[in-house]
Amino acid sequence: MPAAQRDIAFICSTCGTQYSASANPPRECLVCSDERQWVPASGQNWTTLADLQRTHRNAFQRLEPELFGIGTTPEFAIGQRALLVRTSDGNLLWDCISLLDDATIDIVNALGGIRTIAISHPHYYSTMVEWSRAFNAPIVLHRADAQWVMRPDPAITFWDGNSRALWSGLRLIRLGGHFAGGTIAQWSAGAEGRGALLTGDILQVVPDTRYVSFMRSYPNLIPLPASEVERIAAAVKPLQFDRIYGAWWNRHVERNAAQAVHDSARRYIEWLTGNRPLS
Ligand SMILES: [Zn+2]
Ligand SMILES: [Zn+2]
Repeated sequence: MPAAQRDIAFICSTCGTQYSASANPPRECLVCSDERQWVPASGQNWTTLADLQRTHRNAFQRLEPELFGIGTTPEFAIGQRALLVRTSDGNLLWDCISLLDDATIDIVNALGGIRTIAISHPHYYSTMVEWSRAFNAPIVLHRADAQWVMRPDPAITFWDGNSRALWSGLRLIRLGGHFAGGTIAQWSAGAEGRGALLTGDILQVVPDTRYVSFMRSYPNLIPLPASEVERIAAAVKPLQFDRIYGAWWNRHVERNAAQAVHDSARRYIEWLTGNRPLS
């Protein structure tokens, strides 16, 4: 049924997920009710894009000549920043944030717009449909996480399998772990041509940026099994890369990131099992 004119696409204040338009806010946020997220003790809160546009702004940072971070200030919800990868064949928006405003649209268009939006996992689906419409860009998500789309839209395409080539040395790789469809992006031109991975929460760059982590829930500190971490490390091993861009500002493994993933997985598994170092 088409939404009535005064219906609003509400946004969860805790996770930043936007829902399909409705007259009243949804009863609960399904993303936050899941054990990987959380509902505030004071109860569920909702906001709207119009309210966010009044209270927040987006900040941009050039991380490499062809890579820009876009994040909201003051921090909102989970606090991730998106990444805009520029190529001569069009730009990839990697991950997404809830706030989209006129300034962001003008700046991103000046940087070449967006050819496609790809998102690592449901915690960053945010207002992806708003971004898709503003830039006339399709959204590609892994099908294994289709149940977590709270605002379905014809712009969303689901992909299957473990790898999907995009363009200009960009590729999506499904690693699972944190979410069944957990995806990273490989960018072969990144890190001055040595290759970079854009990993969202799937390989989580931790405050000691020589390491990453692998959790089912970061806020609730629920680990993944050793077998899953071993599988993820093995899936990353064949990839050519030297740098990892995580989900937040300043969470980058700048160099030797392939070794960092190996060492991080080994450390994690050793602490889980006490006796099972990665070969
Ligand atoms: Zn939520
Ligand atoms: Zn997450």
